[in-house]
Amino acid sequence: MAEEKRPELIPDDVKKVIRDTFLKQLKEPVLIEVYTKQGENDQYNEATVALTKTFSELSDKVTISFYTVGDDQAKKRNVLRSPTLLIAPDKYRIRYTGSPLGEEGRSFLVALMMASTGMSILTAPAMAKIAAIKDKRDIQVFVTPTCPYCPQQALAAMSAAIVNPAAISADVVEIFENQDLAEALGSLAVPQTFINGIFTGAGLQPEEIFVESLLTLKEPAYLSEEITPGEPVEKDLVIIGGGPAGLTAAIYAVRAGLNSILIEKSNLGGQVAITPVVENYPGFMRIGGKSLVDLIVQQAAQYADIHLGEAVKEIAHEGNRLQVKTNRALYIAKGVIVATGVDSKALNVPGERRLYGRGVSYCSTCDGYFFKDGKKVIVVGGGNTAAADALYLHNLGANVTLVHRRDSLRTEARLRESLDQSRIPVLWSSEVKEILGDKLVKSIKIQDMKTGAVKELPTDGVFVAIGYVPKNEIAKSLGLPLDEEGYIKADLNMRTSIPMVYAAGDITGGAKQIVVAVAQGSVAAMSAFEDITSPYWVAKEKELAKKV
Ligand SMILES: Cc1cc2nc3c(=O)[nH]c(=O)nc-3n(C[C@H](O)[C@H](O)[C@H](O)COP(=O)(O)OP(=O)(O)OC[C@H]3O[C@@H](n4cnc5c(N)ncnc54)[C@H](O)[C@@H]3O)c2cc1C
Repeated sequence: MAEEKRPELIPDDVKKVIRDTFLKQLKEPVLIEVYTKQGENDQYNEATVALTKTFSELSDKVTISFYTVGDDQAKKRNVLRSPTLLIAPDKYRIRYTGSPLGEEGRSFLVALMMASTGMSILTAPAMAKIAAIKDKRDIQVFVTPTCPYCPQQALAAMSAAIVNPAAISADVVEIFENQDLAEALGSLAVPQTFINGIFTGAGLQPEEIFVESLLTLKEPAYLSEEITPGEPVEKDLVIIGGGPAGLTAAIYAVRAGLNSILIEKSNLGGQVAITPVVENYPGFMRIGGKSLVDLIVQQAAQYADIHLGEAVKEIAHEGNRLQVKTNRALYIAKGVIVATGVDSKALNVPGERRLYGRGVSYCSTCDGYFFKDGKKVIVVGGGNTAAADALYLHNLGANVTLVHRRDSLRTEARLRESLDQSRIPVLWSSEVKEILGDKLVKSIKIQDMKTGAVKELPTDGVFVAIGYVPKNEIAKSLGLPLDEEGYIKADLNMRTSIPMVYAAGDITGGAKQIVVAVAQGSVAAMSAFEDITSPYWVAKEKELAKKV
């Protein structure tokens, strides 16, 4: 009898890239154990079987064994959920509880390589600290297939399990397929990390923070304020922020010959990395935000020295140069470009902070997946971001209601058309007053701005998309003039009123668009190059002197 045809999860051209680029690098054979149980997440069981079979067909170093949850092998390995996937279980304690689909396909591929080569994605100092851990550490990272930051956090956990297999296990848990687990821990945002059942952090953690949490079993407050003792590092240009503005500035500055460094406190790509789809960046009709960012990052990394997980705390004057203090070092620079972007604005209502990550979210791409099966979500806001979030969640399958303070939207015509077609209900002239819930969001209180009436609306999630606040703390530390909304004032050449200090991207206010950020980043770098090589004020002084 002919074998039943499996669904093709991966197109042939992608398979070729996976085989030639990744799987050819495998050294030791890797065994994958797949555990399923009929009637539990059937659709995901099938996908996991199909995915693992595809990988084993692409490399003779990958072998798979299939088991049933409840059988002797499952008992031996303590597997209770379907699907579960163990990687090299005789050597390491690495598992996926749920199928590694979507974004997690990437982490799965790298996990296979790590298990085969014994390598990790962590730096040598981090590995040394992890290797010294004696007590048991069971790491759980909650993920979804649409979360762009999740694979990196998952890989940090799996790396730790490879570095110290005696003490550390890593479990990458897909929250939609394991809703009971996620809800028991109150995890409705991803990535979220728990170690020995203790919450140790939301979001993708910089390596230092991850290692710190592994050592202390606590959510570290923030990157250490200590500056590592040592000589100040001299640079022509320090670029602060690794979003599109900073990355483009880095490409231009280094190509111009400036000795530059780009400092990014969390993730490269800034807000674009969490943008589901970009349709207005020239050259691409339609591209995922993360894919676009990856291309820009690849290009920037060819040129620039990029420091990830380093946060700038303060900028100060030092003679005619600038001191840039970070949590790791002190830089003395001839010029600084501030490209720190914006943060999402909070509603500032009771319950919002407490229920953040428990149904309250500011990132639909990251956290929307959990609500995909008809769960009720409220999107608050009336601009492009709110409209895009509402559409994204609606297309995932969530039951969306848009709540807006005014009686009309401020969105692009195309988004408005899509909203009309989607028939997403809009509660006009309504303001959210409170978010209610114990462990998870249960409802919101909203007030009708016209009648004053307050009502309670049941909901599982609240996505806040009401605008932005500029990240201007370090600009303030230097005394840079800001406009009334807190954005840095810069001229057309992206010069601020302080010589050798430039600003680019969302932090300058105006149109918050990738194309604007990259344009301003390039202009800022060119101005910095011009000023560092032939300062305009020296030329002016010479001209004045001639006149006198
Ligand atoms: C949901 C969403 C959808 C969007 N969709 C689109 C779209 O379709 N098309 C479009 O053109 N635009 C879109 N945008 C807007 C676009 O993402 C921004 O305009 C763009 O990212 C701005 O780039 P930036 O480099 O100025 O700032 P950001 O992308 O915000 O990057 C700033 C970076 O600076 C870092 N940083 C901040 N402070 C420090 C510090 N002290 N030390 C070190 N690093 C620091 C941050 O971590 C961040 O990575 C969207 C935005 C969002 C949120």
